[in-house]
Amino acid sequence: MINRSTEFKASRSSIDELMKNPQINVLWNTEIKEVSGENFVQKVVLYNKENGERKEMDTDGIFVYIGMEPNTSLFKDVLNISEYGYIITDNSMATNIPGVFAAGDIRDKEIRQISTAVGDGTIAGIMAERYISHK
Ligand SMILES: Cc1cc2nc3c(=O)[nH]c(=O)nc-3n(C[C@H](O)[C@H](O)[C@H](O)COP(=O)(O)OP(=O)(O)OC[C@H]3O[C@@H](n4cnc5c(N)ncnc54)[C@H](O)[C@@H]3O)c2cc1C
Repeated sequence: MINRSTEFKASRSSIDELMKNPQINVLWNTEIKEVSGENFVQKVVLYNKENGERKEMDTDGIFVYIGMEPNTSLFKDVLNISEYGYIITDNSMATNIPGVFAAGDIRDKEIRQISTAVGDGTIAGIMAERYISHK
């Protein structure tokens, strides 16, 4: 596991699970600078940000997971979007355009979980139905 910083931001339980797994080796303060191989991945070049050291590591594959980028570019000129790209709504999931609702992870909010997405969806659905009924 290659981490660009000196700490993980995941939940405590996930970090604990990771750290006690003897099959996982965590490389802190490290970036992948190159991926190479013939027909398939065989090597990565690692860069240690702390001491400037570069080294090659043999590997059969890589899985990239860095941050989140909400797919909201389609709406950027019409809906209010937060500085991190999430759609801003009020508590009834209403956006700045009457009749347009946003629900789930795409919305600007604190907690992104299945349960909160389902709750958002329920509210948005009811509010949309009310909006149409009162039109
Ligand atoms: C690695 C990972 C682990 C997670 N683990 C948990 C967990 O253990 N428990 C938990 O509760 N939550 C977990 N979550 C969070 C959870 O997955 C989300 O909160 C939840 O899926 C949000 O649901 P959603 O419907 O808002 O968005 P999504 O599930 O992301 O669904 C959005 C859908 O919209 C589609 N879409 C995107 N753009 C367009 C477009 N332009 N047109 C049409 N369709 C489009 C996408 O393809 C996708 O199918 C995890 C998330 C990740 C990334």
